[in-house]
Amino acid sequence: MKAKDIAELMDEPAFTHNKKEKSGCAKPKPGATDGGCAFDGAQIALLPIADVAHVVHGPIACAGSSWDNRGTRSSGPTLYRIGMTTDLTEQDVIMGRGEKRLFHSIKQVVEDYSPAAVFVYNTCVPALIGDDVDAVCKAAEERWGVPVVPVDAAGFYGTKNLGNRIAGEAMVKHVIGTADPVPLPVDANRDKVIHDVNLIGEYNIAGEFWFVLPLLDELGIRVLCTLSGDARFHEVQTMHHAEVNMMVCSKAMLNVARKLQERFDTPWFEGSFYGITDTSQALRDFARLINDPDLTARTEALIEREESRIRAELEPWRERLNGKRVLLYTGGVKSWSVISALQDLGMKVVATGTKKSTEEDKERIRELMGDDVKMLDEGNPKALLKTVEDYKADILIAGGRNMYTALKARIPFLDINQEREFGYAGYDGMLELVKQLALTLESPVWQAVRKPAPWDDGSDVVLDAPVAPVSDSDVKEVV
Ligand code: SF4
Repeated sequence: MKAKDIAELMDEPAFTHNKKEKSGCAKPKPGATDGGCAFDGAQIALLPIADVAHVVHGPIACAGSSWDNRGTRSSGPTLYRIGMTTDLTEQDVIMGRGEKRLFHSIKQVVEDYSPAAVFVYNTCVPALIGDDVDAVCKAAEERWGVPVVPVDAAGFYGTKNLGNRIAGEAMVKHVIGTADPVPLPVDANRDKVIHDVNLIGEYNIAGEFWFVLPLLDELGIRVLCTLSGDARFHEVQTMHHAEVNMMVCSKAMLNVARKLQERFDTPWFEGSFYGITDTSQALRDFARLINDPDLTARTEALIEREESRIRAELEPWRERLNGKRVLLYTGGVKSWSVISALQDLGMKVVATGTKKSTEEDKERIRELMGDDVKMLDEGNPKALLKTVEDYKADILIAGGRNMYTALKARIPFLDINQEREFGYAGYDGMLELVKQLALTLESPVWQAVRKPAPWDDGSDVVLDAPVAPVSDSDVKEVV
């Protein structure tokens, strides 16, 4: 990838802070990729496309350290869960065999798995030695008649966020606009107009989008594509047909929404499905931009019905959580969207992590929590534990990598990031969130582990009953 293309992606004009500041996004600093390199970001953004073969062109460690690091779910094909790499070795580099190896890898993938398409991720080593990945992909596509899409995302180009945008750029350049959607079946009894939309930056973590999909179905909103949770290659090809795009994650792939607006005049909005308020707002925004009075009326009726149902179901849980203090340490969109969900439950967020948040994310945090909010740009274990202590937080809600920090300090912990097992989106996702919060906070384990150890309270440990000696026959039985 040329330096000017990277600079363009870093300077995404749809970010309002880039309009205000001449310099755009900050340049990556040494060590900035410790939260994931550009390749990692690109693969995270596209891996959930379930019927595609995702081939990582590089040494095996690139694929090994990033594969399957999200709990994204598919309702059908599982090809995306097979880790594929060209496994470049020193010998391949010295002998200049990288391109040949890639060509043969694509052949093997096509013959063994018949994928809908092959995505080839370029990494640091082939980018440094100058493998022409674009040319290999083109030749392979012509040879086997299967779309082969290059995703040039060498790790040293920049951070994970840049990788997200590189992935979006690859979709805009090579995939979107190359096919039409499946026509809707003729239904004489259909009582409403069906509207097509896309969701960009929705990853279906733990299957959480399936809490939202039935609502959209009921309203007559057809999701052409969720880029990329539970998506199929053909769905990505048809994204240009949508009437509205929703940007679900504020940083990942914002360039896709902007370019679809420029090329196909598709309006977009940014929203979230975390929390009652934000879920209702997202549904309203769809209706507002589609501008169909019948849809608007039905949306309001659905929101009224769903909100009163879920508020009634949440009531017994709300009493248990009301007033509990939370330290939220997560990145990007979740730094504000989860605040809104927790406030819906009467909880108090005392501080939030903003290491991976944009200026827009921070602005939203201030809107929700006021100017005196504590924003944590650094989340090393010491800083997190000090914040828990200073702000008297009852629970740490963060990503899996902070789990042991919390557990070693005997602080209740809930995983909110991509590795989690539970979906929290939509109205029903709130019910799941509230259950998990209550179970975590009320677990008897906290009382038990916070008590002094028996050998620390000065008393001797006495066994209740003498242990019977083990006989030879017992031993034989066990064996
Ligand atoms: S792409 Fe580069 S930075 Fe990323 S994992 Fe591979 S070698 Fe490391």
